[in-house]
Amino acid sequence: MKYENQLTPQGNALILHQMFPSEIPKLLGYIEDVCITIQEDAERNRKVWNNERLTFEQWLKGVQRVQSKITYYRTALCKSAHFFSSSLFNDNTAIVSHYCLNLYVTTMIQPNPQFTQLVQMLHNKWIGQIEQAPEYITHAENYPDQWVCLCGNQAESDGFYSCNEKGDQIEPIEGEWDELYICMRCGRIIDQRNLQVTGYNPHPKPLED
Ligand SMILES: [Zn+2]
Repeated sequence: MKYENQLTPQGNALILHQMFPSEIPKLLGYIEDVCITIQEDAERNRKVWNNERLTFEQWLKGVQRVQSKITYYRTALCKSAHFFSSSLFNDNTAIVSHYCLNLYVTTMIQPNPQFTQLVQMLHNKWIGQIEQAPEYITHAENYPDQWVCLCGNQAESDGFYSCNEKGDQIEPIEGEWDELYICMRCGRIIDQRNLQVTGYNPHPKPLED
């Protein structure tokens, strides 16, 4: 099938819109409702948030973006598959739209089984993609040594400690240490040469005396 070759979330969303344009208005209404509910329950949702890859604030920002796109550009989103895919499935919004799409086909009874099938297929493919994509932490602008982990941790808050490939703390001794650090807040293991996250250990062993 043609859509087998489409790999990006935007490409997938484009196909969905092109194949099922008549489903889009109802879908947008649903996504908008979900976004409103999430924001109304923000305090409760924040307390139970346990996603390692994303902070609750990042998630909430994405939810607000998706909702305002739908509220202000509903007609254009229904009309244009390109506008739909580029607005609701870009880096900032894809995770929210995918969450809503999946909820839509798993909790609502859909009149069109082909639509449901395509959404599920695209969703599974997307989950596969994000699980394979490497993660990188960032650093303060112009200060490559001032790391900022994806969880928000920095050297002056919980800090980063030298560790082995399992995440257990070790002394940074040449020949024994492979330039890895562990984030003491979230447990991500970071390669200092390229800031790539190479592993995860939420309960690292501390240094032995
Ligand atoms: Zn971290």
